[in-house]
Amino acid sequence: MFSGHKLGLTYRKLDLNPPSLEEVSHVLRVGLKEDFEVIDVSVVECPDLRQSPFHLAQRGLSGNEKIADIGGVPYLAPIVQRDKYYSFKDMVSVMEMNEKAFFIGAGAGPFKEVQTNCELMPNISFENNCNDITNKTHFAKIDEKGGCELSLVKTMDFALLCNLFASEGQTGPVIKVSAKKRIGSNNFVSTIREILAKHYDKRPVSLGGVFLIKSGSAKLHIMPDFSKTPLNTNEDVNNWLKYYTMDSPLICLSVFHSFDPQLDLRIEHTHCFSDHNQGGHYHYDTTPDEVEYEAYFNVAKQIYRIDSPVVTHNIGRD
Ligand SMILES: [Zn+2]
Repeated sequence: MFSGHKLGLTYRKLDLNPPSLEEVSHVLRVGLKEDFEVIDVSVVECPDLRQSPFHLAQRGLSGNEKIADIGGVPYLAPIVQRDKYYSFKDMVSVMEMNEKAFFIGAGAGPFKEVQTNCELMPNISFENNCNDITNKTHFAKIDEKGGCELSLVKTMDFALLCNLFASEGQTGPVIKVSAKKRIGSNNFVSTIREILAKHYDKRPVSLGGVFLIKSGSAKLHIMPDFSKTPLNTNEDVNNWLKYYTMDSPLICLSVFHSFDPQLDLRIEHTHCFSDHNQGGHYHYDTTPDEVEYEAYFNVAKQIYRIDSPVVTHNIGRD
């Protein structure tokens, strides 16, 4: 484990010993049979993720694969710490990806820009030493009528907490998971995470990527503006969040770990966006018979734990 300090941020960096894509693919192919009626897992060349239906800022998930966990729920609850405001550009530097960086994942949105707390779907690419930037990051906020409003951000900022899968955005081999008709009780990501946890035990295997919910619907939340009263328990957080049932197709950006090697990680985090003004934090699909998932994941070689809260807790990590 390496500890460092850059741009006013302390961080720890852990080198992983990731299994091959073929091996992870095999583990998932065996494991997922218990949770979905129809499954197919294989290693494929990544499709061009810039194209529909993905709409990502780069073509693939390969090159210098890393995962970052920045900040954490303790900066949101019990009471917001508004000074926890970050820039993706700084993360390029902290994560030593100056030549090329492509970030996707799940975080809290830039409340100074949006003028309210919101959900963020990071989707941003830096090339040519940060001279060429493609920012397709969306945020979802609660509109005046209590519905969802999904828009592109204008800045490169985020706040409080974020989970990122980082790569050089190159095309290359990835794990493709197709799953239809859910018979297990967990959500798609937890199912995969628990299969990996069971197989790899205390060896951390960390994945990130994109999946589509191609049919059915899903339960998502959007954070309202910051609570003026302290959120002290999971129940407080649940009562504060606003839950929605949203329609497919949803594009979901996901980061998860089979095991936390004492880095105080959020072990899974997925945010979704769409082309129909819906998006937010993924909990689970609400239509197990109808649901169809198509996922593309890669395995990280390093974890960066950046600006980790000194005083931590386990509230609101679901
Ligand atoms: Zn979230």
